[in-house]
Amino acid sequence: MDAYDVVVIGAGFAGLVAARELALRGHAVVVLEARDRIGGRTWTDERWGRRLELGGTWVHWLQPHVWSEITRYGQRIEPSPSSQTVLWVADGAVHRGSPAEFDALITPAMDRLAQDSRTWFPLPYEPLHRSDLDRIDQLSVADYFAGLDLSRTEREVTTGVWAEHFNGPAAVSGLTQAMRWCAAASGDWQLLHQATASYRLTEGTAALASAIAADGGAEVRLGTRVTGVSHDTGGATVSTADGARFSARQVICTLPLNVLDSIDFQPALPAAKLAAGAERTASQGLKTWIRVRGEVAPFTAYAPDVHDLTWVRTECTVDGDSVLVAFGPRAADLAPDDAEGVTRALRTWRDDLEVFDVTGHDWMRDEFSRETWPMQRPGQLTRYLAALQEPHGPVRFAGSDVATGWAGFIDGAIESGLRASRAAHEVLRGPRG
Ligand SMILES: Cc1cc2nc3c(=O)[nH]c(=O)nc-3n(C[C@H](O)[C@H](O)[C@H](O)COP(=O)(O)OP(=O)(O)OC[C@H]3O[C@@H](n4cnc5c(N)ncnc54)[C@H](O)[C@@H]3O)c2cc1C
Repeated sequence: MDAYDVVVIGAGFAGLVAARELALRGHAVVVLEARDRIGGRTWTDERWGRRLELGGTWVHWLQPHVWSEITRYGQRIEPSPSSQTVLWVADGAVHRGSPAEFDALITPAMDRLAQDSRTWFPLPYEPLHRSDLDRIDQLSVADYFAGLDLSRTEREVTTGVWAEHFNGPAAVSGLTQAMRWCAAASGDWQLLHQATASYRLTEGTAALASAIAADGGAEVRLGTRVTGVSHDTGGATVSTADGARFSARQVICTLPLNVLDSIDFQPALPAAKLAAGAERTASQGLKTWIRVRGEVAPFTAYAPDVHDLTWVRTECTVDGDSVLVAFGPRAADLAPDDAEGVTRALRTWRDDLEVFDVTGHDWMRDEFSRETWPMQRPGQLTRYLAALQEPHGPVRFAGSDVATGWAGFIDGAIESGLRASRAAHEVLRGPRG
């Protein structure tokens, strides 16, 4: 049995940051990663002769933890192209206007949400600060907008915007999660939109992940699927599918919630830790890349969540063709590489575009994620967040799913990795330091 101070399970951003921090403090660390690559739910891959992000993409200086990593490793960002035209579906028809005209439609609801977010989440990095959160935590974003004095169009359009943010239907999207995002952007929803989909890493998320992995000297074992973690007072034993066993004084588990039950924990995990995954996250959608013939003037399009795609935007060009990025709320209904289905969905707004190819990764069917970016359902914040962040003996939990601030983002993954590594280090160095 190989002996380490710390075994980190998973080489996404949470695991890589936790491993680096601990290795830099002199601990013997191994990262066990099931896939044959690092990066987890970020994946910069070569498609159509250029780099495409199949998972997490956009970052912002408003997100403190990812920005710190960008600074640390000298990474650069570049803007995604901005659109002069917005198309939206409301009252069963497609409308066309400027970004300002579209913003005017969503402003009444978004202003109210942003204002309420500051009331309910006065300290975004203490999401459970208010003890009466259960008063609103049972509501979905659809419930919330239905309760506001909005026109039918305003409600339909704003609910569609949030279905895109959640990568899932608005009826299962927790209001408090939406408010946490707004609060993290200091209650400014336009800033929130800028922070979530405007700036991408020039060299790709893979370059940032590689820089973190190369720092500190933690060992990373790819293609190593963890199947069991047991612990007693003497420490923990981590077993893998290939029959290897690792002993460790501390373990940091960064599995996405929806696959947490794929590891056999002994003693068993408390029910609350598994319940959130069993209920599934609200995110259940897809991200797809669409290559269309010729140069297309930049546009963004929105649709309510009854549509298979809720958001499309021109993102880049390749060999004279335009590349669009799109999101939909249900991967079960539309796979990201289903060219026919994606083409049909795109025709909601544009039947003049000739689709040349479609590509993407199905994170919902991926056995190592089974979710896209983690978004809570109604009630999950107050029921589960505190329990999910609790250690289980020497096992600590990190990952974007259990982040405190920008939960659901690369930033949240990094924040949680820092938190878990600090706690593990404190145990390892002992009371006398
Ligand atoms: C389509 C999509 C778009 C997104 N867009 C954005 C965006 O624009 N901006 C943004 O900030 N965020 C975005 N996100 C979210 C962001 O990518 C994630 O929140 C973040 O990368 C999660 O990091 P993590 O380390 O918490 O989890 P993960 O990256 O999922 O890492 C967990 C790791 O554990 C591994 N693993 C699983 N099971 C086992 C096992 N049994 N044994 C060993 N290893 C195992 C997995 O392979 C994985 O590498 C997006 C995500 C998706 C999927």
